[in-house]
Amino acid sequence: MASPSRLPETPADSSEPEPAVETARRQLQHAAGHLEIDPNIVERLKHPTKVHEVRVPIERDDGTVEMFTGYRAHHDSVRGPYKGGLRYHPDVSRDECVGLGMWMTWKCAVMDLPFGGAKGGIAVDPKQLSSDEKERLTRRFAEELRNVIGPTIDIPAPDMGTDPQTMAWLMDAYSMQEGETIAGVVTGKPPVIGGSEGREEAPGRSVAIITQLVCEHYDRPLEETSVAVQGYGSVGSNAARLLDEWGATIVAISDVNGAMYDPDGIDTKSVPSHDEEPEAVTDHADDVITNEELLTLDVDVLIPAALGNVITEDNADSVAADIVVEGANGPTTSTGDAILADRGVQVIPDILANAGGVTVSYFEWLQDINRRAWSLQRVNDELEAEMRSAWQAVRAEFEDREVTWRDAAYIVALSRVGEAHEVRGLWP
Ligand code: NAD
Repeated sequence: MASPSRLPETPADSSEPEPAVETARRQLQHAAGHLEIDPNIVERLKHPTKVHEVRVPIERDDGTVEMFTGYRAHHDSVRGPYKGGLRYHPDVSRDECVGLGMWMTWKCAVMDLPFGGAKGGIAVDPKQLSSDEKERLTRRFAEELRNVIGPTIDIPAPDMGTDPQTMAWLMDAYSMQEGETIAGVVTGKPPVIGGSEGREEAPGRSVAIITQLVCEHYDRPLEETSVAVQGYGSVGSNAARLLDEWGATIVAISDVNGAMYDPDGIDTKSVPSHDEEPEAVTDHADDVITNEELLTLDVDVLIPAALGNVITEDNADSVAADIVVEGANGPTTSTGDAILADRGVQVIPDILANAGGVTVSYFEWLQDINRRAWSLQRVNDELEAEMRSAWQAVRAEFEDREVTWRDAAYIVALSRVGEAHEVRGLWP
């Protein structure tokens, strides 16, 4: 088996979805090729600093006890405490947490946030648990992780299968054991206990801001821009509605059942998001197309905002959009990405486009440690300023080095992380 340091640029067998950890290592290796960076630092960054694996026993409602396995992967903390989501999903694994934790390191670095990268979760189907069972699972998981999380150590946030209520239980369990209320141990909490205004819509808002900036870069007025959005959940609906408000024509939106298509433009506010009415997009549509067809629509901008691995070697040739803005995490496989790059399709990567979530998490953490709540207006203004500043840093690399937008974002992130390792050195 090839060692991680010798991975080829694209996977040999791409019939299977590539594991997140492999994609993440490949992208790191690729970005390192553009930089004068100490190979020893790159080697360190290919591996997590630690992966915590815990067993989480819970009493089910029928009195039986069931064991689940939980993980927290710490990738890198050279620039600050570890930061990343906790997911409850049957496919959660050690490797998945390591790969997603690496992405968090780059996402925080490209945004210049004083955080490192982490990811964790429990291999469980949360739909099979009652609310009481989920609460017991979360509180026990908090206890198992208590020594490795904390507001200056590692700050979890919601992810797939977890939500603000999960974060409230986690914060409560942690605070109870520590003997004081420690709001800054998690982000994505309900505002009444220290959560931030604007956190929920932040990833979609950042996708919309970056779409606006990329259209400006290519001299495309939003009023003349058509957009297709896959997924109408938190990221997809917020991005679509803001772009609609700012003048773009949203011609397609979708959920798991299929896509609504209207070349004259959809009134996005009249279609309920996943949160408002789950999987109801097609109920409101006159014209329904498939999610596969949505990805190949002849639009100016395509925003995949539902799942990973949807643009692959099988369909990348058929993507007709000029620009792809990645709303979901990892929607483009390595081979899909290479095909789009060859065809001159501009892909704005997830680590920049959807980084509004972790950026407002950073604002939440600042509010918690300062015991001071910000207004929604302040959150949105500061988010816009952070997104513009990250965009400018990435655009400078894109123009100077004539690389793809993804490479430019990785170059910004890896330069910052590499330089921090360089100046801190290796202890002892
Ligand atoms: P969500 O659960 O709110 O919504 C997901 C949407 O995708 C729903 O409309 C659902 O119907 C649709 N969907 C599910 N399966 C589909 C399929 N096979 N084809 C088409 N649509 C499908 O999720 P979200 O929070 O909006 O997250 C979407 C993506 O964005 C994920 O990749 C997530 O990791 C990423 N992301 C989320 C956040 C966040 O804070 N919410 C932040 C950054 C990145």
